[in-house]
Amino acid sequence: MALLELRDIGKIYVSDGGVAVGIRGVNLSFERGEFVAVTGKSGSGKSTLLNVISGMDSYEEGELLVEGQPTSHYLQPEWEEYREKYISFIFQDYNIIESFTVLQNVELALMHIEDKKARRARAMELIRRVGLESHARHKGSKLSGGQKQRTVIARALAKDSPIILADEPTGNLDFATSQQIIALLGEVARDKLLIVVTHNYEQVAEHATRHVRIFDGAVESDHVLRDTASMPEAAPAEKAAPADKKQKTKQMIGNGFTLGHTIFTSKPRLSAFLCFLMIVGTLGIFLVTSLFGDMQMLFAPNYMFRHIDGRLVLTKQNGSVFTEEELSSLKSEHGANSYLHYDALLDEGAYNTITLPTGEDEWDHEYVSADYVYEKSYGDDILGRYPQERGEVLLYLPISYQTDVGRNSILLSEVLIGRVQYKLVGVKYYYDNNRMPECLFTEDGFRTATASYLLTNNSTSNGEIAVYAKDGTLVKRFSLYDMVTSFELPSDKLYIDLDEYHDLTKGTDYVTEVTLKTHYFSYDSYFDTGIAAGTVFTNSFTGESITDTRPSYDAYETGNAQALVIGAELLCQTAESVLEKTYKQASLFFGDDEAAHIAAKRLRDAGFIAVPSDTTYEPNAAEVILSVISCVVMGLGWILSILFLSFFIRLCSSRTLEAFKGDMAIMRSMGIPSGVIRIGTYVRMLIALIPAFILVILTAILIFTTPKFSAFFVYLYPWQYALIFIGMIAITLRATHNHIRHLFDESVKKSLKGGRAE
Ligand code: ADP
Ligand code: MG
Repeated sequence: MALLELRDIGKIYVSDGGVAVGIRGVNLSFERGEFVAVTGKSGSGKSTLLNVISGMDSYEEGELLVEGQPTSHYLQPEWEEYREKYISFIFQDYNIIESFTVLQNVELALMHIEDKKARRARAMELIRRVGLESHARHKGSKLSGGQKQRTVIARALAKDSPIILADEPTGNLDFATSQQIIALLGEVARDKLLIVVTHNYEQVAEHATRHVRIFDGAVESDHVLRDTASMPEAAPAEKAAPADKKQKTKQMIGNGFTLGHTIFTSKPRLSAFLCFLMIVGTLGIFLVTSLFGDMQMLFAPNYMFRHIDGRLVLTKQNGSVFTEEELSSLKSEHGANSYLHYDALLDEGAYNTITLPTGEDEWDHEYVSADYVYEKSYGDDILGRYPQERGEVLLYLPISYQTDVGRNSILLSEVLIGRVQYKLVGVKYYYDNNRMPECLFTEDGFRTATASYLLTNNSTSNGEIAVYAKDGTLVKRFSLYDMVTSFELPSDKLYIDLDEYHDLTKGTDYVTEVTLKTHYFSYDSYFDTGIAAGTVFTNSFTGESITDTRPSYDAYETGNAQALVIGAELLCQTAESVLEKTYKQASLFFGDDEAAHIAAKRLRDAGFIAVPSDTTYEPNAAEVILSVISCVVMGLGWILSILFLSFFIRLCSSRTLEAFKGDMAIMRSMGIPSGVIRIGTYVRMLIALIPAFILVILTAILIFTTPKFSAFFVYLYPWQYALIFIGMIAITLRATHNHIRHLFDESVKKSLKGGRAE
């Protein structure tokens, strides 16, 4: 059985405008051990013949039999397999991968050897055989024509394929070199089928065993020149035992990785450029992802009350207020851990402000909304300590405030929380863009803040503090907003800034008696809006006013505002006398939400209005639609940005990747499985991604360790970092996918360097 048999093979080229006959009616049969010289005029169809035999060109007529097997039904993958198994191709213009070294070029053809050491040893052996050992580590681009062709021969031998096709292999070489190359070919291909197309028959005459002349696409003559040593028929083309599928895949992936790595390192400048593009892309995704960082807010539940695990909000049906006794008995009756009588502050986070000192200058302040809490633990790693007294507070702040307030200098400074002056004894920082800061008080401290809040910040209270002189004349009415509560001031003293009214009072000695009047309108809890009844309370205070300048209050001497400082004791007395008659809501605290729900049911049965704090309210249709739309828009925006960035990266890299197309074609013409080439291309791009990934990780570390950067960066969540990585991989895969499709769209022949289309 012939190794190759061509039966009536015809190949027609259809190009724009005309039809050209490549070859027609070709009947030839080849055996192992033959050295066939093919000659003919230019354009007679020699190249076409080789291309058809190699499977790089399809044929339209006849049948090509390989070891008796017909091939006319072959599709792309089968041709690839055929090339891999049977064919080595040697071109006139060398077709080595110029950016690879001689060794890498040869090793490329040795992928079937799994062991890397064995692979290298075999490659070196072949390189020695073609006389290039001194150039093994030279890049292809640095070799002479003869050296390149020797590399190609070594590569052809490396494959150990039964057929070597050479299309004018010495066309670009001088006479002496040509002689050497032909001799080398003849020698190394002694046991193979070698078909050499040549202009110059004399060069091969000495070695050829057969001469085929082509004229006008048809075989003109076919002479056997000398006997070939009879070759053992069954030298199997199969490589050892056919590996099972799993093994093959594993090998393919391994080879893909090796190839990807080689490609990446062989073109350092192109690779550096790709890395740079990836970094640009990453920065883009970083930006987009942090822009859409608040996406998760859309999924946050709408709690009716501030949700604290185990909290149950309680009022009475009849609208009357709770007494301490009632609450304490409800607590023990329903197994609550604790209760909070005046719980308004728990629900007013957005309106609660901390006035933070932000610099050396006491005038520099920043107002921060915060949740107020008590009895909470932030772990051991806090700066300073937990509050122990009524006038002390611990702040739980975003790390971005660390630079503003300084690491330790903030401790023990006075901070204004709501309208109450506390001493800051502890700080803890967190990394979270969507979290509220928190102020942690002692229970008493919390109560004071509540009293102050309900008296002064609540829009439904409408009070004033009137200060009268000794003789009964009114010195000034202060709005409750003008008042600051201090824990340092004794309850029988007030601090008043009276500068503006000096002429009225003729000095501080005249002000010896102060009356504090508070008008307080109660409001009817959250279940019913609006003001229920206008209740007016009056609390009288008689004491001594202090008008000498106390340095710690200087910061608040801002004209009329905050011109009155009142002791915390006095405030609480006043406030609680009001609250105990007006404040109708309280909270019970259980171990967890489940316990709160069980208690809620029982309390409702007992006639209370009881709402666990994890109860949500249904957002109305418009809100739902809006949030769904914004969600979709954000998600689409993110995906569109990815598409845009991948398009951008592809655009930037397309010219450089175009250069790579030739190398690809060479690999394909060598019969390297397309799977390996694909994987190699992906791996190469993914390697280019590594610097970008490192950059993201470094940035993250920088952001998290150096709060100074908070001015420029937002703190991303792990899921956002995951999105960035996923996005980058998506961009890379997409760009590579397009690139690969582009590469494989064209036939091998066409994309080969200096394609054969004459
Ligand atoms: P040779 O190698 O003997 O010089 P070729 O095999 O390259 O000749 O070409 C044989 C014929 O086929 C010529 O007429 C040539 O113009 C035509 N031909 C070869 N390749 C193509 C192609 N890609 N498209 C159109 N015609 C082609
Ligand atoms: Mg040709």
